[in-house]
Amino acid sequence: MSEILKLVKKFDEYRSKCLNLQASENIMSRDARAALGSGMASRYSHVDHETHENSYGGTSIIEEIEESVKRMASKLYRSKYAEVRPIGGHVALESTLISILKKGDSFLYIDEKDGGYPGYRQDMIPGMFGFTGIPIPYFYDRQEIDFYGLEKVVKEKKPRAIVLGQSAFVKEYDLGRINEIAWNYDLKVVYDGSHVMGLIAGKGFQTDAIFRSDVLLGSTHKTFFGPQGGIILTNDGDLINRISENMIWKTMDNYHPSRLAALGVSMEEMLATGEEYASAVVRNSRNLGKALNDLKIGIKFNPWFSFTHQLIVDEKSISRRSLDRISFSKTLEKNRIIVDRDGRIGTSEISRLGLHDMDMVGELINKALSNEEVTKEVTDLVSGLQSKYW
Ligand SMILES: *Cc1c(COP(=O)(O)O)cnc(C)c1O
Repeated sequence: MSEILKLVKKFDEYRSKCLNLQASENIMSRDARAALGSGMASRYSHVDHETHENSYGGTSIIEEIEESVKRMASKLYRSKYAEVRPIGGHVALESTLISILKKGDSFLYIDEKDGGYPGYRQDMIPGMFGFTGIPIPYFYDRQEIDFYGLEKVVKEKKPRAIVLGQSAFVKEYDLGRINEIAWNYDLKVVYDGSHVMGLIAGKGFQTDAIFRSDVLLGSTHKTFFGPQGGIILTNDGDLINRISENMIWKTMDNYHPSRLAALGVSMEEMLATGEEYASAVVRNSRNLGKALNDLKIGIKFNPWFSFTHQLIVDEKSISRRSLDRISFSKTLEKNRIIVDRDGRIGTSEISRLGLHDMDMVGELINKALSNEEVTKEVTDLVSGLQSKYW
């Protein structure tokens, strides 16, 4: 057997016996994985924007899949148009920003210190395209935009767009107030829902995202349990045309047809179970936040903790156990509980697998952090999880 395939099998064996609480991850169904690993993985399909001719042969089924995935995306998000080809949330973002902004333009974004995505740093996407990023004034403790400060910055700096969305994402935005400012100062509203696309699809979070933004975009593999990829949704026909033109040969070439097929399978599952899934995710976060806090593992934003799949660990609280974000993650990992090194705990995957006893999850985390060995309890728990999709 191939040496690499041996490692892949070892990895799958290992991770299938871990409790995955990583906020950026999820689990794909067997059917979606079958699509992703299908023969489509080595095929091309490129429909020309103007002539509508495909540059490749043998593609009619791929084209049928793409049309069907677009239709499902529009249904899930209640949008007129969907661009389902981006190979990641980041690529969706690049393709969108270059369709809205010109070189020299500035835009607003949420700073990393407030939970924002590092891709908005000046030396990342803005630097690449000659844009200037301006941080949105923000009240960290309330996880709310400082609207007074925002209006001041908008008046002064005259940005062309406001980009919402965070990587540490626990609360909705007041899009009504964003819309007022956007209307008064002619700003495009871009909602980077990378982390919450599955919750929006399941109507468990920010249900006005599509109505009150010019563009909703994000990843298809965080709370949305599809393959790694990106998606863009809008009701603006001109904008979707510009975005589509700004994709192929600019931010990417082929769009990985097998990924698109896997996304389609996941969308069928989302249409069937999305609402139940999204409400379970949010409920589980809240309950796990309470459970951990009661065990003196501090979670930020007490008493509401979170309206999403994420909990943010309070570093001050874990420092009393001589832990920081990294040792917190590594200690749990020794016990096969996987969280990232950024102090985020996510409930998407365990919710998809039907785990609802958050007191038990809290207890396992607490024991592991108290240097009790809980690997066996964790592997037993995970192997008992049943999902019709797993
Ligand atoms: C994860 C993330 C991205 C990038 O998405 P990929 O799918 O990893 O390319 C963009 N924006 C935000 C807010 C994110 O959290």
